[in-house]
Amino acid sequence: MSATSHVAGLTPIFPGSVDAAGRPATLGVLGGGQLGRMFVHAAQRLGYFTAVLEPDAQSPAGLVSHHHIQTGYDDPAGLAELAQLCQAITTEFENVPAQVLHTLAQARPVAPGAAVVGIAQNRIAEKAHFTACAAVSGVACAPYAVLETPAQLQAVQTDQPDLLPGILKTARLGYDGKGQVRVKSAAELATAWAELGGVACVLEKMLPLTAECSVLVARGWDGQVVSFAPQRNVHVAGILAVTHAYEGAMPLALAARAREAAVAIAQQLNYVGVLCVEFFVVDDGSEHGGLVVNEMAPRPHNSGHYTIDACDASQFDLQVHTLAGLPLPTPRQHSPAIMLNLLGDVWFDAAGQSQQPDWRAVLSLPGTHLHLYGKLEARAGRKMGHLTITGPDVASVKAVAHRAAELLGLPGLDAN
Ligand code: ADP
Ligand code: MG
Repeated sequence: MSATSHVAGLTPIFPGSVDAAGRPATLGVLGGGQLGRMFVHAAQRLGYFTAVLEPDAQSPAGLVSHHHIQTGYDDPAGLAELAQLCQAITTEFENVPAQVLHTLAQARPVAPGAAVVGIAQNRIAEKAHFTACAAVSGVACAPYAVLETPAQLQAVQTDQPDLLPGILKTARLGYDGKGQVRVKSAAELATAWAELGGVACVLEKMLPLTAECSVLVARGWDGQVVSFAPQRNVHVAGILAVTHAYEGAMPLALAARAREAAVAIAQQLNYVGVLCVEFFVVDDGSEHGGLVVNEMAPRPHNSGHYTIDACDASQFDLQVHTLAGLPLPTPRQHSPAIMLNLLGDVWFDAAGQSQQPDWRAVLSLPGTHLHLYGKLEARAGRKMGHLTITGPDVASVKAVAHRAAELLGLPGLDAN
């Protein structure tokens, strides 16, 4: 293990190569969830060996990787083994302690880096970054206030009534709508903050959303950057339900602005890896609405899963390319697509009895691509897999998606 190898991140790690000690080119990932699994699949297809660090014995990524180091994310022995096995390391979830990435980076190239993951982990730092970028990105975030002290609460209550009604969001560890409370009044805000334990939060003004979209950007060690066209996302109960990825899913002018803003946000971070930036489209009286940046994920994203089946390079392929220092191909979408998330709810009937989804009927539909993550226990709200529908034109993709959603009892396709 070379102490300086992390600064040599530009030296490509070619798939199928073997180092001086006879070890095969191996890429590592922190975390064993479905994003790690799809990273492993993409890396292995290119010929890399893979290593996953994940405490759970039955994790989606651990089950398919060459190496599974079964320790906690901050276990020194586990991290040392990961660094020893791998030539470069990434993470599949943003809540990995930034210190862990920092430690690994002493030994190996790590992308994305601890500093940017630290920003994406914390809504306060994230919004400060978006605000600092606004002049370049052209897109601001929702009006907000930071709540860390009782004095700040009081100041918001008296001086910023325009932030209400709003959404109180914990600065850390929120996902899929968790760690959020909608508040209408100053009194509700105080109660909600107390219920969240008085932890650091942001209060965000509730905006009249007409749509949501996200943009995936991949940026290499050398600053080369490629991106995907924005996809439109529909959430149900705070969880992504449907992604629409085809021309016309978003007004073209807005799509172009969102894409440029996401690239600017990645550039300003000096980001290496795949970054997902989420946007709101807000009714501001203009023809297509205004664009507001919501949050970013320092990794591939659920809304980019359609790229596996609908593009000639997926978000996971690009994650592998960025990490290994390979050239980044400009991804081309070859088919319109709709992605339907498969939550554990699909494995239960209306009476709450467990059932097997009717895969025979679903898989007999043209252009359906089923991805299950290898999770053995279905629970309501748990992401078990997704179904991507591709086809020759938007109308046929929509028709098949509706039929599949009907067969599986999936929500969200008619919304927005
Ligand atoms: P999470 O980390 O849970 O994805 P988000 O900040 O993306 O948190 O919020 C989840 C969802 O809540 C968003 O996708 C959007 O539908 C809604 N939401 C969040 N913030 C606002 C806001 N300021 N105004 C209106 N809706 C919002
Ligand atoms: Mg979100």
